[in-house]
Amino acid sequence: MSYTVTLIPGDGIGPEVTAAMRRVIEATGVVVEWEVQEAGAAVIARYGTPLPEHVLESIRRNKVGIKGPITTPVGGGFRSVNVAIRKALDLYANLRPTQSIPGVPSRYEGVDLVVVRENTECLYAGIEHDVIPGEASEAIRIITRRASERIARFAFEYARANGRSLVTAVHKGNILKLTDGLFLRSVQKVAAEYPEIAFNDRLVDNLCMQLVQRPHEYDVLVLPNLFGDIVSDLCSGLVGGLGVTPGANIGDGIAVFEPVHGSAPKYTGQNKVNPTAAIRSGALMLRFLGEGQAAERIENAVTHVIAEGVRVTYDLKATRDDPSAVGTQEMAEAIIAAL
Ligand code: NAD
Repeated sequence: MSYTVTLIPGDGIGPEVTAAMRRVIEATGVVVEWEVQEAGAAVIARYGTPLPEHVLESIRRNKVGIKGPITTPVGGGFRSVNVAIRKALDLYANLRPTQSIPGVPSRYEGVDLVVVRENTECLYAGIEHDVIPGEASEAIRIITRRASERIARFAFEYARANGRSLVTAVHKGNILKLTDGLFLRSVQKVAAEYPEIAFNDRLVDNLCMQLVQRPHEYDVLVLPNLFGDIVSDLCSGLVGGLGVTPGANIGDGIAVFEPVHGSAPKYTGQNKVNPTAAIRSGALMLRFLGEGQAAERIENAVTHVIAEGVRVTYDLKATRDDPSAVGTQEMAEAIIAAL
């Protein structure tokens, strides 16, 4: 059995971490034909857009894609390619499993959280305008019952399929009474269909404090888009940073996998950053393809290499300037050897 997968290397550190991911997947023996597609600032001159239609077409055709991070300019310039891919393909669920890995320096052990972030609306609808240029601007936050119920159902189905016992809805319904009120009511309605799974809700500010103090009290978190973005980075911080956390953008029968981290431009081309998040995103992709055994082998190999703590990148060493840290590709080779 072979699979055709759209591969978007991205920019910044994207090409390095996706190259590492690709090598590890190939080493499992699963045969993948990579349809490499370029997107981001570098293709604007050629196609007039950072996200050419043929890139989306490739993912639509293959139903599966994996990407490296793509840089988004701040305070102007083109809209996020990452957000545009999620919206164009209706990849409505952003899934970010966040587990402690033995050997990764972090404040806690045994953290096991799953962030389910709504991926298509909220402030990421991208509706912004100047009310008085230079003086006042406005962004519109869209929340719909349809999208809220859909993401809630995804969270509960995930919980059911993966033996998780608690889903927490995260919101700011005391202040955003209409939008987050609707989000919360929608999740509550879906929760009633899953009586075997416990359900509660938290205000997002309180949740952040509680996650920092008592992360073990939480299990699956379901959030609107912006809170999901912020809280998933917080959760990455609880288990050792952005270098290790994988992600998936999932729609109906179609998915694009990507690490949670961004393009970290200051490290571009240095063969320095951690490939784990991209490699674990590749493992999530293999699970989606039905290659659970290969995915498990990758996860075990990653865990083994990190637990040994020898052939790992700088961020997994006790001190960040440890001269024994290896590069991106060398860590990938250690993972391949451990397979
Ligand atoms: P970032 O995740 O790129 O980097 C923040 C810091 O995290 C880095 O400086 C580095 O210290 C650490 N880090 C990130 N990835 C790492 C890795 N693999 N190994 C070790 N350390 C790692 O976040 P940022 O600086 O806020 O964003 C940079 C660019 O990335 C922006 O243009 C942003 O829009 C974009 N971005 C893209 C995506 C995506 O493609 N989905 C996601 C987030 C940010």
